[in-house]
Amino acid sequence: MQRLFLMVILSLFISIPTFGLITEEQEKIIYLTFDDGPTQGITENILDTLKQEDVKATFFVVGREIIQREPVLKRIHEEGHAFGLHTFTHDYKKVYASPESFVKEMEETQKKINEILNEDLDVKVIRFPGGSAGKLNQQYFDAIKKKGYRIFDWNVNIEDGVQPNLPPYKFVENSKICSDNNTTRILLAHCNLNNLNTCKALPAIIRYYKEQGYTFDIITNDTKEYYYKFKDEDLK
Ligand SMILES: [Zn+2]
Repeated sequence: MQRLFLMVILSLFISIPTFGLITEEQEKIIYLTFDDGPTQGITENILDTLKQEDVKATFFVVGREIIQREPVLKRIHEEGHAFGLHTFTHDYKKVYASPESFVKEMEETQKKINEILNEDLDVKVIRFPGGSAGKLNQQYFDAIKKKGYRIFDWNVNIEDGVQPNLPPYKFVENSKICSDNNTTRILLAHCNLNNLNTCKALPAIIRYYKEQGYTFDIITNDTKEYYYKFKDEDLK
């Protein structure tokens, strides 16, 4: 009996560091995210690279961009990538007019996606145009949570939104910079019509993260939320 007890105690000590290591490895995850699509050419180019490199990504689509680009939306879905909702108009005046209009824009986009795919997807993953910083407050938070949405900002920004024409090597350099100590990385990139240099940088970005031992994953309704803390003075 005593021996058994000793063995149990010993196995605990032996297994803890092993478990620790496994957990650390599992946490090294990268979520590639592409905002503002779908677009012809650019989104398709990104999809080609993702297929070649055999990795999956998450596309934060804008509802009105889907119109006349339905085949691109279908391809994203068919090739196993995930969707996030990124409003219908991406027009800050409309989107941020009120928490109600923000939520309505997300619902419209969800509806559009399902209409085109002829599916009944329940996408709870959302992203604020421009990120949640300075926009998310208690009122928005309550409206968002009432609908069960999950907010995703980022901790790696290749800076292709504000500066789409930076040389590709700059995007690769930026992709290595993380704004916090998380082993999980959420990389922000774009697939607007002006993001050709993002397409050029993408193979090197993916190779870098493969070399660093990262696992590529998609953001789903079960993924741990990631958003910037909002200020207490915004509380109502
Ligand atoms: Zn955007």
